[in-house]
Amino acid sequence: MAQPRPRILVVEDEPAQREVLAYNLEAEGFQVSRASSGDEALLLFDEEAPDLVVLDWMLPGVSGIEICRRWKARAETRGVPIIMISARTEEVDRVRGIETGADDYVVKPYSIVELMARVRGQLRRVRPSMAGARLEFEGVVLDTESHKVTRDGVEISLGPTEFRLLATLMEKPGRVLSREQLLDRVWGRDIYVDTRTVDVHVGRVRKALGGPSRLDLIRTVRGAGYAIG
Ligand code: CA
Repeated sequence: MAQPRPRILVVEDEPAQREVLAYNLEAEGFQVSRASSGDEALLLFDEEAPDLVVLDWMLPGVSGIEICRRWKARAETRGVPIIMISARTEEVDRVRGIETGADDYVVKPYSIVELMARVRGQLRRVRPSMAGARLEFEGVVLDTESHKVTRDGVEISLGPTEFRLLATLMEKPGRVLSREQLLDRVWGRDIYVDTRTVDVHVGRVRKALGGPSRLDLIRTVRGAGYAIG
């Protein structure tokens, strides 16, 4: 099973520009949803829980700025990176000036190569395990490119699901993820898997990381889920 691909929401009312963007993002391996208006964007955002949004400033109905403000005002949506696209530099200055909270800005006409680099940069920040990063915690090193894991320099053999599970937990030590959140991030939301499956795989990761004699890095948080560290 392949790693669930990062989900990107493209909000652009110009059909041609929307398609070019979506096409290029899909070619990079992302899962793309398209919205052509502000209202549609608000709806899709709640339905699809994207990992990142590429948001045009000028939209019919609710403007890109208003949307950005709303998402950045809610604790549950604040962490999703928003790359704002705007037609002119004065607009970008205004976007910056009114503190919409957008994470990055691109001015039209933009180069696709540059936009892709910004997308990857933002994803690396929020979902390091999806962007070819090396994650480290307490002697455990996980390389998301070579798919190798070592603990204190000794290679650890993990199945693909265990690897993704450990990578997801290691993205942010201390953060507690519920079983549902882990199912969504590790197995992908399109597949039905029982939440108890998560417990089984956490058990396997624990075992692989070193028997009972070693410090257990994965914490079970009663009623909440799992965390590393
Ligand atoms: Ca537009």
